Amino acid sequence: MRLNQVISTAINKLSHSDTPRLDAEVLLCNVLDVTRSYLYAWSDKVITANQYNQFQELLEHRIKGVPIAYILGNKEFWSLDLQVSENTLIPRPETELLVELVLARLDSDSQATIIDLGTGSGAIALAIAKERVNCNVIATDKSTTALAIAKQNAKNLGLETVKFIESDWLSNLGLADVIVSNPPYIATADPHLNQGDVQYEPRSALVAGNDGLADIRTIIAQAPKHLTDGGCLLLEHGYDQAAAVRDLLKQFQSVETYQDLAGWDRVTVGVKN
Ligand code: GLN
Repeated sequence: MRLNQVISTAINKLSHSDTPRLDAEVLLCNVLDVTRSYLYAWSDKVITANQYNQFQELLEHRIKGVPIAYILGNKEFWSLDLQVSENTLIPRPETELLVELVLARLDSDSQATIIDLGTGSGAIALAIAKERVNCNVIATDKSTTALAIAKQNAKNLGLETVKFIESDWLSNLGLADVIVSNPPYIATADPHLNQGDVQYEPRSALVAGNDGLADIRTIIAQAPKHLTDGGCLLLEHGYDQAAAVRDLLKQFQSVETYQDLAGWDRVTVGVKN
Protein backbone atom coordinates (compact mmCIF):
# COMPACT_ATOMS: atom_id res chain seq x y z
CA MET A 1 0.00 0.00 0.00
CA ARG A 2 1.14 3.56 -0.69
CA LEU A 3 1.74 6.02 2.13
CA ASN A 4 -1.24 8.20 1.18
CA GLN A 5 -3.54 5.14 1.09
CA VAL A 6 -2.27 3.90 4.43
CA ILE A 7 -3.03 7.32 5.93
CA SER A 8 -6.49 7.72 4.41
CA THR A 9 -7.54 4.21 5.51
CA ALA A 10 -6.32 4.95 9.03
CA ILE A 11 -8.16 8.31 9.13
CA ASN A 12 -11.42 6.50 8.40
CA LYS A 13 -10.87 4.23 11.40
CA LEU A 14 -10.06 7.14 13.74
CA SER A 15 -13.41 8.86 13.57
CA HIS A 16 -13.62 9.24 17.37
CA SER A 17 -10.40 11.27 17.46
CA ASP A 18 -10.36 15.08 17.21
CA THR A 19 -7.18 14.83 15.19
CA PRO A 20 -7.42 11.72 12.97
CA ARG A 21 -4.96 12.84 10.29
CA LEU A 22 -2.38 14.03 12.79
CA ASP A 23 -2.70 10.79 14.78
CA ALA A 24 -2.28 8.61 11.68
CA GLU A 25 0.69 10.62 10.44
CA VAL A 26 2.47 10.70 13.79
CA LEU A 27 2.11 6.93 14.25
CA LEU A 28 3.28 6.24 10.71
CA CYS A 29 6.29 8.57 11.15
CA ASN A 30 7.20 6.60 14.24
CA VAL A 31 7.12 3.27 12.38
CA LEU A 32 9.05 4.60 9.37
CA ASP A 33 11.35 6.80 11.49
CA VAL A 34 10.74 9.80 9.24
CA THR A 35 9.38 13.34 9.65
CA ARG A 36 5.87 14.36 8.62
CA SER A 37 7.17 16.27 5.59
CA TYR A 38 8.56 12.95 4.29
CA LEU A 39 5.01 11.56 4.20
CA TYR A 40 3.98 14.39 1.87
CA ALA A 41 7.12 14.32 -0.27
CA TRP A 42 6.92 10.53 -0.76
CA SER A 43 3.16 9.97 -0.63
CA ASP A 44 3.36 7.42 -3.49
CA LYS A 45 5.98 5.30 -1.76
CA VAL A 46 4.86 1.75 -0.98
CA ILE A 47 5.52 0.55 2.56
CA THR A 48 6.71 -2.97 3.43
CA ALA A 49 4.42 -5.60 4.93
CA ASN A 50 6.41 -5.43 8.13
CA GLN A 51 6.01 -1.65 8.38
CA TYR A 52 2.32 -1.98 7.61
CA ASN A 53 1.83 -4.54 10.39
CA GLN A 54 3.73 -2.42 12.90
CA PHE A 55 1.60 0.57 11.97
CA GLN A 56 -1.63 -1.43 12.33
CA GLU A 57 -0.60 -2.50 15.79
CA LEU A 58 -0.09 1.11 16.94
CA LEU A 59 -3.26 2.18 15.18
CA GLU A 60 -5.33 -0.44 17.05
CA HIS A 61 -4.31 1.15 20.36
CA ARG A 62 -5.25 4.60 19.11
CA ILE A 63 -8.61 3.31 17.81
CA LYS A 64 -9.30 2.07 21.35
CA GLY A 65 -8.58 5.60 22.59
CA VAL A 66 -5.09 5.22 24.08
CA PRO A 67 -3.35 8.64 23.97
CA ILE A 68 -0.65 9.03 21.33
CA ALA A 69 1.89 9.92 24.04
CA TYR A 70 1.32 6.57 25.78
CA ILE A 71 1.44 4.62 22.51
CA LEU A 72 4.76 6.19 21.55
CA GLY A 73 6.00 6.46 25.15
CA ASN A 74 7.12 10.04 24.85
CA LYS A 75 5.91 13.64 24.75
CA GLU A 76 7.63 16.91 24.04
CA PHE A 77 7.56 19.61 26.71
CA TRP A 78 9.66 22.79 26.67
CA SER A 79 11.54 21.26 23.69
CA LEU A 80 12.56 18.33 25.90
CA ASP A 81 11.74 14.85 24.70
CA LEU A 82 10.24 13.21 27.80
CA GLN A 83 9.40 9.57 28.36
CA VAL A 84 5.90 9.10 29.70
CA SER A 85 3.86 6.07 30.77
CA GLU A 86 0.44 5.31 32.21
CA ASN A 87 2.00 6.16 35.60
CA THR A 88 2.51 9.80 34.68
CA LEU A 89 0.31 12.60 33.48
CA ILE A 90 0.98 13.60 29.87
CA PRO A 91 2.63 17.03 30.08
CA ARG A 92 0.37 19.77 28.69
CA PRO A 93 1.52 22.78 26.68
CA GLU A 94 -0.28 25.14 29.11
CA THR A 95 2.00 23.93 31.90
CA GLU A 96 4.88 25.68 30.13
CA LEU A 97 3.38 28.87 31.61
CA LEU A 98 4.42 27.64 35.07
CA VAL A 99 7.99 27.18 33.82
CA GLU A 100 8.02 30.65 32.26
CA LEU A 101 6.79 32.24 35.47
CA VAL A 102 9.42 30.46 37.57
CA LEU A 103 12.21 31.45 35.16
CA ALA A 104 11.06 35.08 35.18
CA ARG A 105 11.82 35.12 38.93
CA LEU A 106 15.32 33.68 38.63
CA ASP A 107 18.50 35.35 37.29
CA SER A 108 20.36 33.26 34.72
CA ASP A 109 23.07 32.46 37.31
CA SER A 110 20.64 31.94 40.19
CA GLN A 111 21.53 29.31 42.79
CA ALA A 112 18.04 29.21 44.26
CA THR A 113 16.48 26.04 45.59
CA ILE A 114 13.36 25.07 43.67
CA ILE A 115 10.95 22.30 44.57
CA ASP A 116 8.61 20.83 41.94
CA LEU A 117 5.82 19.01 43.80
CA GLY A 118 4.19 16.07 42.01
CA THR A 119 6.73 16.08 39.22
CA GLY A 120 5.24 13.14 37.26
CA SER A 121 7.46 12.68 34.22
CA GLY A 122 9.72 15.45 35.58
CA ALA A 123 8.55 18.00 33.01
CA ILE A 124 8.59 21.17 35.13
CA ALA A 125 11.72 20.35 37.16
CA LEU A 126 13.72 19.31 34.10
CA ALA A 127 12.71 22.37 32.08
CA ILE A 128 13.81 24.64 34.96
CA ALA A 129 17.05 22.71 35.46
CA LYS A 130 17.81 23.05 31.77
CA GLU A 131 17.38 26.83 31.84
CA ARG A 132 18.95 27.57 35.25
CA VAL A 133 21.94 25.29 35.50
CA ASN A 134 23.14 26.62 38.88
CA CYS A 135 19.84 26.18 40.65
CA ASN A 136 19.24 23.39 43.12
CA VAL A 137 16.19 21.70 41.61
CA ILE A 138 14.34 19.10 43.65
CA ALA A 139 11.63 17.01 42.00
CA THR A 140 9.18 15.14 44.20
CA ASP A 141 6.32 12.73 43.80
CA LYS A 142 4.56 10.29 46.06
CA SER A 143 4.41 7.79 43.20
CA THR A 144 7.60 5.72 43.02
CA THR A 145 6.78 4.65 39.47
CA ALA A 146 6.47 8.28 38.36
CA LEU A 147 9.73 9.17 40.11
CA ALA A 148 11.51 6.34 38.31
CA ILE A 149 10.39 7.79 34.96
CA ALA A 150 11.38 11.32 35.99
CA LYS A 151 14.84 10.05 36.99
CA GLN A 152 15.20 8.23 33.68
CA ASN A 153 14.27 11.46 31.87
CA ALA A 154 16.90 13.39 33.84
CA LYS A 155 19.47 10.82 32.79
CA ASN A 156 18.41 10.79 29.13
CA LEU A 157 18.54 14.57 28.98
CA GLY A 158 21.84 14.94 30.84
CA LEU A 159 20.11 16.89 33.62
CA GLU A 160 21.36 14.73 36.45
CA THR A 161 21.86 17.62 38.87
CA VAL A 162 18.13 17.40 39.62
CA LYS A 163 17.46 15.61 42.93
CA PHE A 164 14.49 13.29 43.33
CA ILE A 165 12.68 12.80 46.62
CA GLU A 166 9.66 10.64 47.35
CA SER A 167 7.28 12.86 49.28
CA ASP A 168 3.58 13.34 49.85
CA TRP A 169 3.51 17.05 48.97
CA LEU A 170 5.90 18.84 51.34
CA SER A 171 5.93 16.30 54.15
CA ASN A 172 9.52 15.03 53.60
CA LEU A 173 11.06 18.26 52.41
CA GLY A 174 13.11 21.20 53.68
CA LEU A 175 13.32 24.86 52.67
CA ALA A 176 13.05 26.29 49.16
CA ASP A 177 13.07 29.70 47.49
CA VAL A 178 10.46 28.60 44.98
CA ILE A 179 7.80 25.92 45.23
CA VAL A 180 6.06 25.07 41.99
CA SER A 181 3.38 22.51 41.29
CA ASN A 182 0.89 21.27 38.74
CA PRO A 183 -1.12 19.25 41.26
CA PRO A 184 -4.31 17.30 40.60
CA TYR A 185 -7.14 19.82 40.39
CA ILE A 186 -10.12 18.11 38.78
CA ALA A 187 -13.29 17.47 40.81
CA THR A 188 -14.20 13.81 41.41
CA ALA A 189 -17.47 14.06 39.48
CA ASP A 190 -16.12 16.06 36.52
CA PRO A 191 -17.49 14.34 33.35
CA HIS A 192 -14.32 15.39 31.48
CA LEU A 193 -12.55 12.52 33.35
CA ASN A 194 -14.38 10.03 31.15
CA GLN A 195 -13.50 11.66 27.86
CA GLY A 196 -10.52 11.55 25.53
CA ASP A 197 -6.93 11.07 26.65
CA VAL A 198 -7.70 11.93 30.29
CA GLN A 199 -9.41 8.53 30.78
CA TYR A 200 -6.05 6.80 30.45
CA GLU A 201 -4.10 9.08 32.78
CA PRO A 202 -3.52 8.22 36.45
CA ARG A 203 -6.51 9.40 38.49
CA SER A 204 -4.15 10.26 41.33
CA ALA A 205 -2.52 12.87 39.08
CA LEU A 206 -5.85 14.41 38.08
CA VAL A 207 -8.48 14.22 40.79
CA ALA A 208 -8.49 16.20 44.04
CA GLY A 209 -11.70 15.81 46.03
CA ASN A 210 -15.20 17.06 45.42
CA ASP A 211 -14.15 20.56 44.35
CA GLY A 212 -10.76 19.67 42.83
CA LEU A 213 -9.02 21.86 45.42
CA ALA A 214 -8.06 19.28 48.06
CA ASP A 215 -4.39 19.02 47.08
CA ILE A 216 -4.04 22.75 46.39
CA ARG A 217 -5.34 23.36 49.94
CA THR A 218 -2.79 20.96 51.42
CA ILE A 219 0.08 22.52 49.49
CA ILE A 220 -0.91 26.07 50.43
CA ALA A 221 -1.23 25.06 54.09
CA GLN A 222 2.21 23.41 54.12
CA ALA A 223 4.12 25.90 51.95
CA PRO A 224 4.85 28.79 54.37
CA LYS A 225 6.97 26.53 56.60
CA HIS A 226 8.99 25.42 53.59
CA LEU A 227 9.57 28.78 51.91
CA THR A 228 12.44 31.18 52.60
CA ASP A 229 11.42 34.80 53.31
CA GLY A 230 10.29 36.32 50.02
CA GLY A 231 10.05 32.84 48.53
CA CYS A 232 7.17 32.13 46.22
CA LEU A 233 4.60 29.48 45.50
CA LEU A 234 3.33 28.96 41.94
CA LEU A 235 0.34 26.70 41.36
CA GLU A 236 -1.38 25.54 38.20
CA HIS A 237 -5.15 25.20 38.58
CA GLY A 238 -8.38 24.84 36.63
CA TYR A 239 -9.70 27.69 34.48
CA ASP A 240 -12.46 28.41 37.02
CA GLN A 241 -10.43 28.02 40.24
CA ALA A 242 -8.42 31.27 40.27
CA ALA A 243 -10.66 33.12 42.74
CA ALA A 244 -10.73 30.14 45.12
CA VAL A 245 -6.95 29.72 44.93
CA ARG A 246 -6.36 33.44 45.52
CA ASP A 247 -8.63 33.23 48.53
CA LEU A 248 -6.65 30.26 49.88
CA LEU A 249 -3.47 32.32 49.41
CA LYS A 250 -4.70 35.21 51.55
CA GLN A 251 -1.74 34.89 53.92
CA PHE A 252 0.64 35.41 51.00
CA GLN A 253 1.67 38.72 49.38
CA SER A 254 1.53 39.93 45.78
CA VAL A 255 -0.95 37.22 44.83
CA GLU A 256 -1.51 37.21 41.09
CA THR A 257 -3.19 35.01 38.49
CA TYR A 258 -1.81 34.47 34.99
CA GLN A 259 -3.55 33.24 31.84
CA ASP A 260 -2.42 30.47 29.52
CA LEU A 261 -2.15 30.91 25.74
CA ALA A 262 -5.83 30.06 25.36
CA GLY A 263 -6.65 32.99 27.67
CA TRP A 264 -7.79 30.85 30.64
CA ASP A 265 -6.76 31.60 34.21
CA ARG A 266 -4.17 28.87 34.73
CA VAL A 267 -1.52 29.79 37.32
CA THR A 268 -1.71 31.71 40.58
CA VAL A 269 1.40 32.93 42.37
CA GLY A 270 1.89 34.09 45.95
CA VAL A 271 4.95 35.40 47.81
CA LYS A 272 5.56 34.38 51.40
CA ASN A 273 4.69 37.19 53.76
N1 GLN B 1 -4.99 20.31 32.88
C1 GLN B 1 -5.35 18.94 33.01
C2 GLN B 1 -6.68 18.68 32.36
O1 GLN B 1 -7.55 19.50 32.38
C3 GLN B 1 -5.40 18.51 34.45
C4 GLN B 1 -4.08 18.46 35.03
C5 GLN B 1 -4.12 18.41 36.49
O2 GLN B 1 -5.09 18.03 37.15
N2 GLN B 1 -3.06 18.84 37.04
O3 GLN B 1 -6.88 17.64 31.80
